[in-house]
Amino acid sequence: MAFPLPTSLTPSKVASFKDCALAFRFSAIDRLPEPPSAPALKGTLVHRVLERLFWELEPGDRSLDAALDRLDEEATAFFAGDEWTALGSDDAARAPFRAEAEKLVRNYFTIEDPNRVRVVGTELMLETRVGSMRLRGIIDRLDLDENGDLVVVDYKTGRAPGENFESGKLGGVHFYAYLCEAVLGRRPARVELLYLREPISISTTPSPQSIRGMQVRTTAIWSAVERACEREDFRPNPGKLCSWCSFQAFCPAKGGSLPEAATPPATSPLATVPPPSVGDAPGRTTTLF
Ligand code: SF4
Repeated sequence: MAFPLPTSLTPSKVASFKDCALAFRFSAIDRLPEPPSAPALKGTLVHRVLERLFWELEPGDRSLDAALDRLDEEATAFFAGDEWTALGSDDAARAPFRAEAEKLVRNYFTIEDPNRVRVVGTELMLETRVGSMRLRGIIDRLDLDENGDLVVVDYKTGRAPGENFESGKLGGVHFYAYLCEAVLGRRPARVELLYLREPISISTTPSPQSIRGMQVRTTAIWSAVERACEREDFRPNPGKLCSWCSFQAFCPAKGGSLPEAATPPATSPLATVPPPSVGDAPGRTTTLF
């Protein structure tokens, strides 16, 4: 019995298959739950603050104080909610968690002036198909630059890649550029990664060649996923990433036991996916063009 195909590929799923096919299977096919992590939840909190900064305030009013007010509100709700409880942290951990989130928000203001940004969308989920593959990604922010061209902005709350790894990390950039072109009909003029920890901004200009290269690489990965599902052959790739892997208890390379095989759905999810549309996206947009 072959494994069911995952319903879609996202930039993080593409990366996870390349890093370790078995970890990809656990996440995308078996859908094993992963415990929340403090860095990921801190990133979510900061994303919410920056989203509200742009949608609740007009240019001219987007100040650091206004952002910190929103951080207070979001942090209060976060500490009272299930996400914080699931982390298992005690009350003493709240202040440092809040302080680290504040540092990221403050750093954002050193990278750009939000009052000069012409935002047209935030948290936009874009989807498209390439053959039998459905590609999906969420764009943190979509802007118009001074020429009226699209700019994709992605907030990063982890470490910026070192020089040697920069081009590899930018692979996801072209993924977003491709989604933008496929769904909105326009290739973005730039994709900007705002690394809030350092803080630095890394900007790249997508080209027809770079987008085509991404399409070819992603199609090859999808073919590899199809083959692995057909053969039920997802191999572990032990390495540095194992330290952060949530699935060690299920990984034979770490002395764990494989879970029961994933059950195929009654119908292929790809057969029931509606045509892609940015209008169905859960994010917020103004009139784009
Ligand atoms: S523990 Fe390592 S080898 Fe095993 S699934 Fe996770 S990343 Fe892959």
